[in-house]
Amino acid sequence: MAAGARLVVLGKQGAGKGTQCLSLSHHYVVTHVSTGDMLREAVKQGTGLGKKAKELMDRGELLGDDLIMEMVSGRLAESDTKDRGFILDGCPRTVEQARMLADLLAPVDLDLVIDIEVPTSQVLRRLASRRVCVDCGANYSLQARPLIGWTCDVCGGEVVQREDDTEEAISRRLEIYEIQTAPLIDWYRERGQLAQVAGTGLPDTVTKRIVRAIEDRSNRKGGRFT
Ligand code: ADP
Repeated sequence: MAAGARLVVLGKQGAGKGTQCLSLSHHYVVTHVSTGDMLREAVKQGTGLGKKAKELMDRGELLGDDLIMEMVSGRLAESDTKDRGFILDGCPRTVEQARMLADLLAPVDLDLVIDIEVPTSQVLRRLASRRVCVDCGANYSLQARPLIGWTCDVCGGEVVQREDDTEEAISRRLEIYEIQTAPLIDWYRERGQLAQVAGTGLPDTVTKRIVRAIEDRSNRKGGRFT
């Protein structure tokens, strides 16, 4: 068990970040902080942030670094994430956000950045069949449906296709990923914070690979992260 783990999970759209972060958050009893889920909630609530975010999200464009980091820093200042740690999903997405995150967390660093690797041909197939719960964000697909109709097994919410999972927005998000987010992999590797894990195969198999990578890192640091 990695007490007080502070993790970032990277990966292309459809690499399985949401699914894996949920499993990891249960395994390590730490909070899953997803910027995408937070923004979708803001859109649903019709807040000022939600209104700004909606159009950019539907087009697959990124929101500004300052706006995102303000939202993330607020969330990381809350007691659950402060005391027990967090699994950050969807942020950082640019090198500038990574720098801002490091400043925010200083003097303590991230424990590990996990990059889930899946070939683009496979993420395209996954995204076309992806369905999500509008209330809790649980992931499903045409192949792995909820038990009853399109009602979420976890919370009973409605399971739908995401509004930004259109062919156009997906290809724009993957393009932005290559330009803005992929450089983060080298950035974290150079800092000795990166573990790369194959994201192919069954979700449980991928979770086991990630847990092994986290335990390896934790053991090398003397059994504890912090
Ligand atoms: P995906 O990984 O499939 O693109 P997310 O749920 O992580 O989906 O994010 C959905 C959208 O929210 C992004 O396309 C982007 O518009 C916005 N967003 C989320 N996180 C960030 C971030 N760190 N920086 C900028 N925009 C973000």
